[in-house]
Amino acid sequence: MPIQRPKGTQDLLPGTIEQWQYLEETIRTVCRAYGYEEIRTPIFEATELFQRGVGQTTDIVKKEMYTFLDKGDRSMTLRPELTASVCRAYVENKLYGQPQPVKLYYMGPMFRYERPQSGRFRQFHQFGIEVLGADQPVVDAEVISLVWNLYQRLGLTQLEVHVNSVGCPTCRAKHRKQLQEFLTPRQNELCNDCRERFERNPLRILDCKNPTCQAVTSGAPTTHDTLCEDCSTHFERVLVLLGLAGVVYRVNPRLVRGLDYYTKTAFEVMVEEIGAQSAICGGGRYDGLVEEIGGPPTPGIGFAMGLERVLAALQVQNQLPEQKPKLFAMLIALGEKAQNEGFSLLSTLRAQGISVSMDLLGRSLKTQLKAANRLGAQYALILGETELEQNLLLIRDLTLGEQIEVPLVEAVEEIKKKYQRGV
Ligand code: ATP
Ligand code: MG
Repeated sequence: MPIQRPKGTQDLLPGTIEQWQYLEETIRTVCRAYGYEEIRTPIFEATELFQRGVGQTTDIVKKEMYTFLDKGDRSMTLRPELTASVCRAYVENKLYGQPQPVKLYYMGPMFRYERPQSGRFRQFHQFGIEVLGADQPVVDAEVISLVWNLYQRLGLTQLEVHVNSVGCPTCRAKHRKQLQEFLTPRQNELCNDCRERFERNPLRILDCKNPTCQAVTSGAPTTHDTLCEDCSTHFERVLVLLGLAGVVYRVNPRLVRGLDYYTKTAFEVMVEEIGAQSAICGGGRYDGLVEEIGGPPTPGIGFAMGLERVLAALQVQNQLPEQKPKLFAMLIALGEKAQNEGFSLLSTLRAQGISVSMDLLGRSLKTQLKAANRLGAQYALILGETELEQNLLLIRDLTLGEQIEVPLVEAVEEIKKKYQRGV
């Protein structure tokens, strides 16, 4: 039996990879427009970072982590998300000593041991941003508007942007008490997970996908009901700014984030058309996190976006660009002498950034022309024995079927002209 890739992982092959590159390039352009810089952190970290930074009561830490002992008996974990890593890097590299806020973005694979299904993988990719060192509502609005702007640029529609405030630790303690009081008489109707959450993290019960739990919690006190004045003013200001940025949003008082360190603003973006796994982006403010992992008290806010799901949505909505022809020209050299001449022509053209290929299997003219067409080449550059004798190159336009002969010494100039006309 040939070896197969692990469950829940993917091979991204040519034909699909162009869509990824398009998405990644668009993301980088938008990040640049907003003044964000890229950060790259390790694929694995000390397990403790995620236990503390993501939170012991979360699904991620409780059941989804790829954790292993390295040969030095240290417990390591493949990153399941990147906020904790970025905060660690901020502290470890003393980025708090630089002008604040620090505005970072990242893109790359994350790992979670989950049940693979459509839109849910064990290795998946996230784009995310983190802003550290600023607590003003305008930061929250900037972050959400970046997401909105990216989706506009990609042409995504049918979006639902949900925003809420989960408050500060003071509001949350109040809410937690009210929520527990509300749920106490109906505790045994909850699912097993939620019964466990009741003591440790009752807020998460509002987030449970189980229909029975959802029925039990409909009408439960929301985080909105217990916001202190400061959190409430902050939230109102975020909403005003979102309006000014043209973001179409909905306040969803039931929206809570599964992670322990979130404070104040929380948000999520959904696209219903991609099925059950409809959340394409989730984020919020986490003013307590940097301190939690041993840094100075530092406010932070960010989000993470699932790229597989964004691509699925773009696919459904027919928003992925047509693939451009990949190859400008195919060099067809027949015989060793022609190959020598052609090979040197090829390296001159390639050095100028013009994409040209040549046959690597010593095939016939007919087969090579077929291959050139299949690769979407616009021109065939033909160098046979006759051409070589007369020091000529045959340039055939594969779309029009026309051809011209040029002296070999002028070939580079002529091809360059055609290339520049095309770009
Ligand atoms: P879900 O409720 O779908 O499990 P989550 O709350 O675990 O999502 P986050 O940790 O907030 O998700 O991650 C942010 C985004 O990353 C999600 O909105 C989703 O688009 C994407 N994502 C999360 N887990 C996966 C996965 N296993 N496969 C593909 N994408 C994922
Ligand atoms: Mg999850």
